[in-house]
Amino acid sequence: MSDWEDEYDERGVAVTRPPGVGTGARAAPTFPSGVPREVVCFGGGAPRGKPSRDRPQWRDRRDGDAGLDGAAVRGDSRDGGRWRGEGRVFGVDGDGSGSRRPVSLRVENALIGRIIGRGGGKIRELEESSGARIKINRGEYEGDLLIFGSSDVQQKAQTMIEELISGGSSVSWPQNDSESPGVKSTSCWSRTALQSSAGPTSTPIDWNALRENREKYETMKWQDLPALKKDFYIEAESVARRSAEEVRIWRKENNNVFVDDLREEGKRPVPNPVYTFEEAFVDFPEIMENIVRVGFQKPTPIQSQAWPVVLSGLDLIGIAQTGTGKTLAYLLPGFIHMDQQPVPRDQRGGPGMLVLTPTRELALQIEAECNKYRYKNFKSICVYGGGDRRAQIKMVTSGVDIVIATPGRLNDLQMNELINLRSITYLVLDEADRMLDMGFEPQIMKIILDIRRDRQTIMTSATWPTGVRRLAKSYLKDPMMVYVGTLDLAAVGTVQQTVLCVQEEEKKAYIFDFIHNMEPQDKVLIFVGKKIVADDLSSDLCLRGIAVQSLHGDREQRDREEALQDFKDGRVRILVATDLASRGLDVHDITHVVNYDFPRNIEEYVHRVGRTGRAGRSGTSVTLVTRGDWKMAAELIHILERAGQEVPEELVLMAERYEKHRREKDMFPTKPRGGGRGGGAQRGRDRFRDDCNWRF
Ligand code: AMP
Repeated sequence: MSDWEDEYDERGVAVTRPPGVGTGARAAPTFPSGVPREVVCFGGGAPRGKPSRDRPQWRDRRDGDAGLDGAAVRGDSRDGGRWRGEGRVFGVDGDGSGSRRPVSLRVENALIGRIIGRGGGKIRELEESSGARIKINRGEYEGDLLIFGSSDVQQKAQTMIEELISGGSSVSWPQNDSESPGVKSTSCWSRTALQSSAGPTSTPIDWNALRENREKYETMKWQDLPALKKDFYIEAESVARRSAEEVRIWRKENNNVFVDDLREEGKRPVPNPVYTFEEAFVDFPEIMENIVRVGFQKPTPIQSQAWPVVLSGLDLIGIAQTGTGKTLAYLLPGFIHMDQQPVPRDQRGGPGMLVLTPTRELALQIEAECNKYRYKNFKSICVYGGGDRRAQIKMVTSGVDIVIATPGRLNDLQMNELINLRSITYLVLDEADRMLDMGFEPQIMKIILDIRRDRQTIMTSATWPTGVRRLAKSYLKDPMMVYVGTLDLAAVGTVQQTVLCVQEEEKKAYIFDFIHNMEPQDKVLIFVGKKIVADDLSSDLCLRGIAVQSLHGDREQRDREEALQDFKDGRVRILVATDLASRGLDVHDITHVVNYDFPRNIEEYVHRVGRTGRAGRSGTSVTLVTRGDWKMAAELIHILERAGQEVPEELVLMAERYEKHRREKDMFPTKPRGGGRGGGAQRGRDRFRDDCNWRF
């Protein structure tokens, strides 16, 4: 594969120029027409190398210069990082061979793997057989493939690439036919410049044909799929009879359930909630048997409202916290969905349900929940990073019905073609907000590309930020949204929340004291902000002869599972954990939650506190707040007040001081460097700092 002929701009960013200008020939400067001189200048007989300020120089696109044609290319290339991040531009003769300008294809990263092949085998073969040289510049989600060589060679390589990714939907061709063929809008040179420097072009690429091919591949990819059945809901008479007013009152009294049809045009009637299990599952006796066996009394609010929606075959967004019964809200309809498909199970060639979830702990917990219900002998498997990859592959290929996976590991299996997702008809994105927080969006995107479009999709999330909305818009079709009020501490009233304002260095002493005073039946979950603090605190406790376990992302999976099991089974009664355990951790008998470090945001506080006071028990939370947490004080006060809890005076002071600080900051926004200008603002800040120099 070729390397680029690089020059560097004043920031050391590599730029490449069109043929016939600059470098070797020291030709007289030839300005591409349409490119303003003051913006881009090059060559001019100046010596090669790092340009100086007074020497004409190349510029990259990071300036956002007007008059440059095309967009910057993102990401690193495979050539050992010679392309440095954003802003890399390429010109016409990227390989320096004087050949035709490169054809640029934009391909989703998921498919780039297919083109490269193991150890680069496929791409080498491709280059050898076509005679083309291919460069790949990967971005975050997609990459640019640059094909160098003569027109024939380029076309040959392009056809071969299409064949390699046939079945993929992801080569994006220029939308504008009048655009210079072969050069997407990724060049920094104006079209005129490119035309004048490119020399005679041979047979133009038939973009229309290529576009048609893309559609053909897309159709081919999804043809021959078995028919899908999604609607299994027969509304019970008792449910249908409910008046709008009755339903309104029920929703208000049940965690303020709110339902919305997100279809933009032609809104559908929102189904009434079911109040009993029978109203949802009377036609599915095996489901009823399971419910009787586990002994649940009535559906939780999310279940009451979600089941009629999901059983009707609609996509659903459930905004609900862990602990609200959301897992069962999607699992039970999922069982029915899989069982009722027209194609028998053994002929589907793969799993029917996929649950994507952010952490291994949650994956294991969902699997445990899944295993509580015996339905048609459905087999489930948990696929997560850190687990035994070989065993997971064996299980996946030996035939399972439900895959519960973290996106990273599943994507790994998918890229290596070890799992076939074509048979999935019921997709769950569990805790979507958390998956986005953890940076899983690219993997989710790749995974979903391989799942049929007419599937049923359920998404749960504790919050509804922009990222989650984007995900919903991309991957759900006309969903209904069921929102169940946030874990309402005021309504639950089962957690007594205490807030203690302390100095950072007093925290450990507080913990030792707290543990010293623990009752034998107490079970304590101590939340810390960093993995290192978890290690440090738990080893300090160990050294004092106290049985403790710790849970954080740097621990081996086996150790994490063991820690959780020890805590669940009561072999240890103290667990020191990071926020890995703040959501989803379902241990019923935790009596105390201690926030050793205050969480990153107030939502996480609510999640943490919600680990206790579960299943009708009461619980206690103790939160240590230091002056570094003053930003969160106002929100914490709000939560405490809503829950009818005592608000310490120091916390109120802290909130007031922060508010004052914020106002001061707004008034003196820029920090002066040195003594000179802005001294007044600095003095203001100094005064303020003195003012803030308080102790608890
Ligand atoms: P989740 O929100 O899915 O994490 O559920 C938390 C816990 O609630 C799990 O232990 C479930 O077994 C339990 N659960 C689910 N549905 C019900 C129900 N209808 N009544 C009582 N508990 C339930």
